[in-house]
Amino acid sequence: MNTQVKFCKNCGSHFVDNYCNHCGQKAFEATDRHILALFGEMFHFITHFEGTFWTSLKTMLLKPGQMSLDYCNGVRKKYFKPVSMFLFIVVLYLVFPGFSGLNVSLNEYRQSFLAGRLIQSQIDQKIAAGKLSEEKFSEKFKHVSEKVSKFMLFLLVIFSAALIRSLFPRAKHFFYDDLVLATEINIFLILVFFTLIPVILAIILRPGNNITYSSLLEHSISLVVMLLFGMYSARVFYTVFRQNWWISLLKGTCFAVLLSVFLIFLYRPMVFEVAYFLI
Ligand SMILES: [Zn+2]
Repeated sequence: MNTQVKFCKNCGSHFVDNYCNHCGQKAFEATDRHILALFGEMFHFITHFEGTFWTSLKTMLLKPGQMSLDYCNGVRKKYFKPVSMFLFIVVLYLVFPGFSGLNVSLNEYRQSFLAGRLIQSQIDQKIAAGKLSEEKFSEKFKHVSEKVSKFMLFLLVIFSAALIRSLFPRAKHFFYDDLVLATEINIFLILVFFTLIPVILAIILRPGNNITYSSLLEHSISLVVMLLFGMYSARVFYTVFRQNWWISLLKGTCFAVLLSVFLIFLYRPMVFEVAYFLI
């Protein structure tokens, strides 16, 4: 250990060894301004970013829930921050317009259960006020709602956390922990259910394959996806809350069903209203 007392150029504290005890900056040396140091920094950024990102992703896929559990118990340095990862994935998701994710067409909004009539009258009003044709409005709406539905994904995290809290009211943990866990679950949801599965379905259902896309098929796919998501959630709950496997399974299924209900009856009308306001 280097016992020479150093002066921190960043915060003005005195310290020994390589890092400032107060702000954490590495001891500054003349060689830090060498051109090679710049390459070193780039290399560190890329490898560190990649290293933690892959560790997080691998842990999420192989041991669902473990990352959140570790993160809330203070094991953090090896992971990519869950919140940063969520933002990173939402941004990636925004960049690829092909994934409609939770966005649906104007027609589907119009036929939505409960809110459908209100939505219908709002559409008529906007069309009349702007002297737009129905097609023009629909096109404009699609453009805006696609982005809105992605930006509003954070609502999904908050609702998931509230759901987790209600499913495990007696677990001794902070709401912070529920939010971290909700973030992990939703990263998985976006990656697997909004990105990977739609790609696989698009390949299977492409016109050359002679599979007719019926509403029965659509409903069966939705059901399978929901069951898979329920099983995944159960696995997460089992890791984090350590309850019986069958209680975890029950709660995981409940979670998946309630989250779908939230998506259809609350999230969608909210996306519609925000997009409608922005047009
Ligand atoms: Zn310092």
